[in-house]
Amino acid sequence: MSSTQQDVVIVGAGFSGMYLLHRLRGLGFSVQVFEAGPDVGGTWFWNRYPGARVDVQSITYSYSFDDALQQEWEWTERYAAQPELMRYINHVADRFDLRRDIQLATRVTAAHFDEAANRWEIETDRGSHVSAQFCIMATGCLSVSRLPDITGLESYQGDWHHTGAWPHDGVDFTGKSVGIIGTGSSAVQTITTIAAQVDQLTVFQRTPNFSVPAWNGHADHELAQQVKESYASYRQRARESFAGDIFDFSQTPAMSVTADEREAEFERRWGLGGFAFLVSFVDLVTDPAANAAAAEFVHRKIREQVQDPVVAELLCPKDHPFGTKRLCVDTGYYQVYNRDNVTLVDVKSDPIAAITPTGLRLESGTAYAFDSLILATGFDAMTGALFAIDIRGRDDASLQEHWSAGPRTYLGLQVSGFPNLFTITGPGSPSVLSNMMVSIEQHVDWVTDCIVYVRDHGLATIEAERDAEDRWVDHVNEVGAATLLPEANSWYMGANVPGKPRVFMPYVGGVGAYRIICDEVVAKGYEGFALKA
Ligand code: FAD
Ligand code: NAP
Repeated sequence: MSSTQQDVVIVGAGFSGMYLLHRLRGLGFSVQVFEAGPDVGGTWFWNRYPGARVDVQSITYSYSFDDALQQEWEWTERYAAQPELMRYINHVADRFDLRRDIQLATRVTAAHFDEAANRWEIETDRGSHVSAQFCIMATGCLSVSRLPDITGLESYQGDWHHTGAWPHDGVDFTGKSVGIIGTGSSAVQTITTIAAQVDQLTVFQRTPNFSVPAWNGHADHELAQQVKESYASYRQRARESFAGDIFDFSQTPAMSVTADEREAEFERRWGLGGFAFLVSFVDLVTDPAANAAAAEFVHRKIREQVQDPVVAELLCPKDHPFGTKRLCVDTGYYQVYNRDNVTLVDVKSDPIAAITPTGLRLESGTAYAFDSLILATGFDAMTGALFAIDIRGRDDASLQEHWSAGPRTYLGLQVSGFPNLFTITGPGSPSVLSNMMVSIEQHVDWVTDCIVYVRDHGLATIEAERDAEDRWVDHVNEVGAATLLPEANSWYMGANVPGKPRVFMPYVGGVGAYRIICDEVVAKGYEGFALKA
C-alpha cells in the first residue's frame, strides 16, 4: 500500500478533472488525479457507441481557458463526433502535460475526513492511500451506466453492450439483426447511425423523446474564423447566457404573438438546428399553453417525416411536456423509421417481461430474436458516481445519509459537514441543463480560486454552513417548481432509478444568473461558508 501527501486529490479525468489539474498545478499546488478508466476523457472515453457526438456546437462545447488552444484547434464538423472529441482531449492532455499527475485505471473507493488533521484520507482499489487537504469530485454527472431492471440478461447468448461502456475496438453490426432498448439521446444517435448497416433493427421504445434536428455538417471555416477573431466576447456571451450557449434567447412569450407568427418563429428556429428551438420563446418550459404549442409543432414535424401514421404517432411524445427532458439533437432520426429494416416496438403498452437466450419476450408473450442487443438505458445521473464512493465527513457521517431524501448542496459546490470537499457540476448547479463546458469551467475556476483563498489566508478549512445549504436547496426547488421540468419522469428527477428520491436535481436559474450569485458569495467574503484557521 503506497501512501502519499498532496495538497489536492481530484477524482476523475474527464473535461472537469483535466482542467482542474491544469489550473491547480499552475497555482503551485501538489495534485494527484485518479481516473477509473484506462485513459483520460470521461464521457467521451466511455461513450464510443456508433454516432456518439455532441449536441452543442463544438466552437462552443470546447475549453475557453487557453486562447492559443482555442485559436489553433480546428473542428471538422459543426457537432464533433466522439473520435474527434477524443483527439481534442488527447491533444489537451499532451499539450498541458497532464498525464504525469493522473493515475489511470484506479478507482477511488473511499474518502474520509480526518477532523483532527483537517485532511481527507483517500483510498483506491489499487491499494494506494493519499492524504490531502482538499478533495474534488470531478466524477461526472453521467458516468455510471444503468442496466435495465429486466431479468434474464445473463442468459442472453448474443453479444450485448451498454452505450455508456462501449467496446473500444467498436462493434461490427454488418448483416446482423440487432435489438436496442431505449430511445433517449444515446439511442437516437445509435439507431440513426447503425440503421443502414444492420440487416434488421428492432427498437424497443417505452417513452418517446422530443428530438430536434442538428443540421450537422462540415464546419464552416469562415464562421469559425470570425468566431476566433472575437472568441473572448463570444465566450463571454456564452458565460452570461441562460444555458451556456450563444443562442438568441427570445424574450417574447409564445402566446403574445399570432399563431402565424409563432409558427414562423418555430420554423425559423427549427432551421437553425439544436437547442435554438428550445428558446424560440421565453416561456416554453414555464407556460403550459406555450409548451403545448411547441409540442404540437414537433409532433407535426414527426408526422411529416414518418410515412407510417401508426409509427409516427408512437414516436410523438405525449406523456411529458416539451423540453422537460434533455432534448435529443439528431441527424435524420425520424426518417430512419421509413426504412424496411427498422421496426419500432411499443414496450409501454406491452412491457418487456424478460431477456431470453435469443432475444427478449414481452408481457403478452410476443418474442423477438436478434444477434446483438444494445442497451441505451441511461445512467444513474448526478449522484451515482458520488454514492459509489464511501464519502464520510464530520462525525463519520456519510454523504449517502446526508442525501437520503435527495441531494443537498450549497451552490452545487459544497455540502455541509464535508469541509474542503467540492463537487464539479454537482446537484444544485446548472450543470446538466447547460452547455456543460461552460459550467465545468465556471466551477473549476470558482473552486481553484477558493482553494487559493484558503491557502493565502492561512486557513485550514472551508465548509458550507447548514443554513446556507438549506436556503440554497429551497431556492433550487422553488426555481425548479416554477417550471414544467419537475413534471417529467426524467433522470433530472431521479425517476429512471427505482427507489431514488424524486427531487429536481439541477439548478434551473440559468448559467449567467448562477455565475453572478457565485461571484457575489465570494465578494461577500464567502458568504454562507465557514472559514476556519
Ligand atoms: P465525465 O466526463 O463523466 O468524467 C468523469 C470521470 O470520472 C470518468 O472518466 C469516470 O471514469 C471518473 N470516475 C468516476 N468515479 C470515479 C472514481 N470513484 N474513481 C476514479 N475515477 C472515477 N454535455 C454537453 O454539454 N453537451 C453534449 O453534447 C453532451 N453530450 C453527452 C453525450 C453523452 C453520451 C453523455 C453521456 C454525456 C454528454 N454530455 C454532454 C454531458 C457530459 O458528461 C459533459 O459534457 C462532460 O463531458 C462531463 O465531463 P466531466 O469531466 O465533468 O465528467
Ligand atoms: P436516457 O435519456 O436516460 O434514456 C434511457 C432510455 O432507456 C429511455 O428511453 C428509457 O425509457 C429506456 N429504458 C430504460 N430502462 C428501460 C426498460 N427497462 N425498458 C424499456 N426502456 C427502458 O439515457 P441516454 O440516452 O444515455 O442519455 C442520457 C443523457 O446523456 C442525455 O439526456 C444527455 O444529457 C446525454 N447525452 C447526450 C448526447 C448528445 O446528443 N450529445 C448523447 C447521449 C447522451 P423511459 O424514458 O421510459 O425510462
